Amino acid sequence: MPVIDLRSDTVTLPTPGMREAMQAAELGDDVYGEDPTVNRLEQHLAAELGFASALFVPTGTMSNLLGLMAHCERGDEYIVGQQAHTYKYEGGGAAVLGSIQPQPLEGEADGSLDLARVEASIKQDDFHFARTRLLALENTMQGKVLPQSYLTAARALTSKHGLALHLDGARLYNAAVKLGVPARAITQHFDSVSVCLSKGLGAPVGSVLCGSHELIAKARRLRKMVGGGMRQAGVLAAAGLYALEHQVMRLAEDHANAERLAAGLRELDYRVEPVQTNMVYVQLGEQAGALKNFCAERGIKLSTAPRLRLVTHLDVAADDIAKVIEAFAAFPRA
Ligand SMILES: *Cc1c(COP(=O)(O)O)cnc(C)c1O
Repeated sequence: MPVIDLRSDTVTLPTPGMREAMQAAELGDDVYGEDPTVNRLEQHLAAELGFASALFVPTGTMSNLLGLMAHCERGDEYIVGQQAHTYKYEGGGAAVLGSIQPQPLEGEADGSLDLARVEASIKQDDFHFARTRLLALENTMQGKVLPQSYLTAARALTSKHGLALHLDGARLYNAAVKLGVPARAITQHFDSVSVCLSKGLGAPVGSVLCGSHELIAKARRLRKMVGGGMRQAGVLAAAGLYALEHQVMRLAEDHANAERLAAGLRELDYRVEPVQTNMVYVQLGEQAGALKNFCAERGIKLSTAPRLRLVTHLDVAADDIAKVIEAFAAFPRA
C-alpha cells in the first residue's frame, strides 16, 4: 500500500532528476574549500538572496545555531518567539553551546512578534543584564507568511537599537512563492538567513546560512567546532542546487493541495485553521490518537497532537488529498 505521509515536508525522497544530479556532482574536500558543487551552491544562494557569503551545513538546527553564535557572544541575548524553532525545537543549543540567553516572547496569531513588546524587552546597557544583541524571526511561521510591511518595521526597530536581525527561513521559499515575490524581497531585511533545502524543496539533507563575509567566516570556524565540516559534501549540495533550480515554483502545488485539504475537512465540520502555505492545522482535541490509528490502517501517516498539523509536500499528490478527506470522513468521531 502506498503511504501518504502528512507528518512533515521533511519526509520527501529525492526525485530521479535529483538523484541524477547527485550522481553527476563534481566533488572535492569541502573542509579545504575544494568541493566545486558546495562552492556553487553557496555562491548561488548568497547571490540569489542578496548576501556576500553563504555556508552549507548538514541541518537547519546547525545553521541557526551558527548564525546565533556568529552574531552573539557569551552573555549576549537574543529575542525570539516562544514557539520559534530557534527557541523551542533546537535542544536549547544557543544557550548550551553558545552561552547565549534567549528572551522568549509570546507570538501573535499571524506568526509575528509584537514589535512594541520586542522593544520593551530590549535591555538597557546595565551590568545587571545580559546584552540584547539580536532578534530572531521565522518565516513561514507554522505555515504563516510574515507580512512584508512587518519585516520593514522589524528592520527599522532593530537598526534603531543596534540589534542584528536573523531569519529562520527554513521555509523561506514557501513564503516567497505565496507572496509571488523573489525570495530576496524577503531576505533583504535581514543580516543573516538560514534556509532549509530538506523541507518542501525536497533535498535529502542540508541547509545554508547566508550573511556577510565576516559573519560567514565566523560561522565557518564554528561549523568545524561543532563537527559540521563535511568532506565530499557536493553529493548533497548537488541535491540542493537541483531543488533550487527545479522544485521551488512547484511549492504552489503544495499550497493548493493544503487549501483543498482544508476545504474538504471544513466541509466535514472539522475545526480547521486558515491556511496560507503547506500546513493545515486541525483542532482535534482528545480524538487525535484514535484518528492517527484509524488513518494508519488506511496508509495515511499522521502526527498525534490535539492541534494536528498536516503538511503537504512533493510526495503528496492531488489525488492523495481526496483519499485523506475520505479517511477523515469515515472516521467515527465522538
Ligand atoms: C526544520 C526546521 C529547522 C531545522 O531543522 P533540521 O531538522 O535541523 O534541519 C529550523 N527551523 C524551522 C522553522 C524548521 O521547520
